[in-house]
Amino acid sequence: MRELLSEQNIDYVERAREVAEKYVRPVAAELDRTGEYGWDILEALKSAELTGVWIPKEYGGKGTGVLDLCLIVEQLSRACGGVGVSYAVNALGSFPIILGGTDEQKEKYLPPIASGDSLIAFGLSEKASGSDAGSLRTTAIRDGDDYVINGHKKWNTNGGVASVFTIYALTEPDKGMRGISAFIVEKDTPGFTVGKREDTMGIRTASVNELDFVDCRVPASQLLGGSEGGGFRNTMMTLDRARPGVAAQALGLAQGAFEWALRYTSERRQFGQTVMSHQAVQFMLADMATQIEAARQLVYASARLIDSGAKNVTKMAAMGKVFATDTAMKVTTDAVQLFGGYGYCRDYPIEKYMRDAKITQIYEGTNQVQRLVIGRALTRELKELTEHLDVTVEHFPDYDPES
Ligand SMILES: Cc1cc2nc3c(=O)[nH]c(=O)nc-3n(C[C@H](O)[C@H](O)[C@H](O)COP(=O)(O)OP(=O)(O)OC[C@H]3O[C@@H](n4cnc5c(N)ncnc54)[C@H](O)[C@@H]3O)c2cc1C
Repeated sequence: MRELLSEQNIDYVERAREVAEKYVRPVAAELDRTGEYGWDILEALKSAELTGVWIPKEYGGKGTGVLDLCLIVEQLSRACGGVGVSYAVNALGSFPIILGGTDEQKEKYLPPIASGDSLIAFGLSEKASGSDAGSLRTTAIRDGDDYVINGHKKWNTNGGVASVFTIYALTEPDKGMRGISAFIVEKDTPGFTVGKREDTMGIRTASVNELDFVDCRVPASQLLGGSEGGGFRNTMMTLDRARPGVAAQALGLAQGAFEWALRYTSERRQFGQTVMSHQAVQFMLADMATQIEAARQLVYASARLIDSGAKNVTKMAAMGKVFATDTAMKVTTDAVQLFGGYGYCRDYPIEKYMRDAKITQIYEGTNQVQRLVIGRALTRELKELTEHLDVTVEHFPDYDPES
């Protein structure tokens, strides 16, 4: 619904769509097959001035915010979900610096990310610490003017192509999650290596790697914000602001798969008529279109809330993520169904959408965890949401809170 977007938003949509159609769609299957990163696409994004829109202007970005980030990710993901996340993860990696970095750290690291000359990745998860991020075990122990990092990170999106990494580690291991701090680690730091690349189901152009730290010494100036202990809060605030980006990836995948399904069912004929003209198929298409539009409005609303500067964005970001990613899984699966046997074959474009969509329900907090987050928010809001309701014997004749 373009009517609800500003002129600036529409300009971003159009430029991102042009890059997606010209540079992403023609190579999406090839990137999926080879697992290569789309370096030409990055150059096209730079030429179209689409990099770093979420980074403040004073640090070289466009400073236009999370909604424009989402609009770009949605358009890229319509053509390839892997390209969409490869772009979006730069926001995930740089939000920690935007939110918690010192001026010097922002001045040094944000401009090259804003221009697209440098890629950044986000290292929170570990082999034994995924949903329970506060239980991470990587340590960063102060030694003179340095910190020495030891540990292992798992599933680092863009790990194989990034030159800068935000890494969460325990500076005070006995304090649990209150002892977590964040660090900015450059790729060629001695003791740091990018390890095994994951053989993923989808988003195969995105390089997802393990990261190894063995006595990796970084100067204390790499401690995010210059103080210890704020890492867990920083990561939660980061994820709140990055989740609309994942939701937008899901939205773009759903939209892209839907467009293929619409096109295919309008041409494929069975029983003497197009598949689309069977009412059962029309009902499926109607549900898909409705779910996508509902997801779009929720994702855009959560992005707008963040851009408004509102303090409490957690619940809306989680709602947008859950709804859009569940929608993507449902819509892409239905699209495969509507392609029939061809939908199950890799030389048709549709099965990739389903493979790419699955991860959106898992990363940046699984959808079970998002539902926990929403549930906790509702518990906090209980009084505000219900105090106007009169729970008395008059309305609840058999109600006895004491029994
Ligand atoms: C392709 C890919 C890219 C990724 N990219 C990154 C990245 O760039 N940076 C990064 O730091 N991480 C990244 N991750 C990690 C990702 O965020 C985690 O995989 C995710 O948070 C889930 O953690 P886990 O895999 O350890 O699952 P677990 O936490 O072990 O969960 C297993 C299952 O149990 C459920 N579960 C767990 N706890 C609860 C609970 N309390 N209530 C109900 N259900 C629960 C989960 O929902 C899930 O279904 C990536 C992962 C993948 C696969």
